[in-house]
Amino acid sequence: MSPAPLTPLEDALAALLAQAQPLPGGAASVDLLQADGRVLAADCIAPLQVPPLDNSAMDGYAVRSAEVPVAGTVLPVSQRIPAGQVGTALLPGTAARIFTGAPLPPGADAIVMQEECTVLAEGAVRFNAAPRPGQFVRRAGQDIALGSTALQAGLRLTPAALGLAASLGLAQLPVTRQPRVALFSTGDELALPGSLAPQDLPPGHIFNSNRYVLAGLLKRWGCVVVDGGILPDDRAATRAALAHAAQDCDLLVTSAGVSVGEEDHVRPVAEQLGALSLWKIAMKPGKPFAFGHLRRSGGAGQAHFIGLPGNPVSSLITALMLLRPFVLALQGAGVVQPQAHWVQADFDIRKPDSRREFLRVRRNGAGRLELFDNQNSGVLTSTVWAEGLVDNPAQTLIARGDSVRFLPFSELLT
Ligand code: AMP
Ligand code: MG
Repeated sequence: MSPAPLTPLEDALAALLAQAQPLPGGAASVDLLQADGRVLAADCIAPLQVPPLDNSAMDGYAVRSAEVPVAGTVLPVSQRIPAGQVGTALLPGTAARIFTGAPLPPGADAIVMQEECTVLAEGAVRFNAAPRPGQFVRRAGQDIALGSTALQAGLRLTPAALGLAASLGLAQLPVTRQPRVALFSTGDELALPGSLAPQDLPPGHIFNSNRYVLAGLLKRWGCVVVDGGILPDDRAATRAALAHAAQDCDLLVTSAGVSVGEEDHVRPVAEQLGALSLWKIAMKPGKPFAFGHLRRSGGAGQAHFIGLPGNPVSSLITALMLLRPFVLALQGAGVVQPQAHWVQADFDIRKPDSRREFLRVRRNGAGRLELFDNQNSGVLTSTVWAEGLVDNPAQTLIARGDSVRFLPFSELLT
């Protein structure tokens, strides 16, 4: 039997995204302080303009610029306007003492900063420089125009976006529902850290690391993680656990056990409970990856299913490239693909792989990318050392100095 052809990563991603409709039971309003990382469910239309009034960008004096035509001009000071107060129309031939953020008095068109002024006796001020019209004036609406779309539906909210909403006087924002994701590790060899002392690990066992990697990623991507624990390599136990979780979760994620060995029970169970596509993805690390759905009993719809490979680096990188866009799409995020940068390599790849390869790299002092020396899919150290991945197409040589496609973890882990 010839081996099944490898599925291109783009095809697998397209198939996933075609099934990733935003979750039903949608929008809820949450307080701004709870909204960081959530996806905005509706456009945010500005109910006022920001800033509300023309105001001063400096501590100094508000003037009519035409009345200060040259350095050395002296004007009497006719009023004082601290932030939080509104002045009166600027008397012709005078200046107003003003502070940062205070509204410009009607008639004034420029601010002279106090560093360029000399205070004289009897309430007058000399300007040591002539202002340009509009100088140090923040125009009303320069940040946000009344009625404009300040934040777009589908935006993943950041602290900066929350600040913008707050500047509009909004206390809450409508956000989409967070996916409930059941996370399972599978394999009889797995021991849970803390369940026994490291030196007591029985021969043939390893500690479960994928649980921590995947739970951390899913939380960063806006999911509520339901810990499904470790599934033994046993058909009945796997079936019971997956069927149970499918009832009240939007997505089930497993690691390992999706190959076609007789100890790989996840695939046959998922096929019994629903439908599954098992792909060997043309990526390295990666390969076995399963996607489908599990039917709920009682006709209550279905849950999505994603089976990741078991090798720690493979499971991490397939999660970054496939699980991440999928769960972002479930939340209605407008952008689900990571932003890549072109950066010069400080390494060579002389024997490229027949598959698209994701290399663990980090920037050196020269701003170029260095390669971790062990790219094996079991070496998690590479992913802690690295700052991101080089996405190297199949069969592609890299020579030092070449520009390569860099996907920073700072992008992928958010
Ligand atoms: P499998 O897909 O079950 O053949 O597993 C592939 C490899 O990944 C094996 O070496 C497993 O021991 C390892 N592995 C599976 N699950 C985990 C896990 N949760 N943490 C660390 N390594 C794992
Ligand atoms: Mg296994």
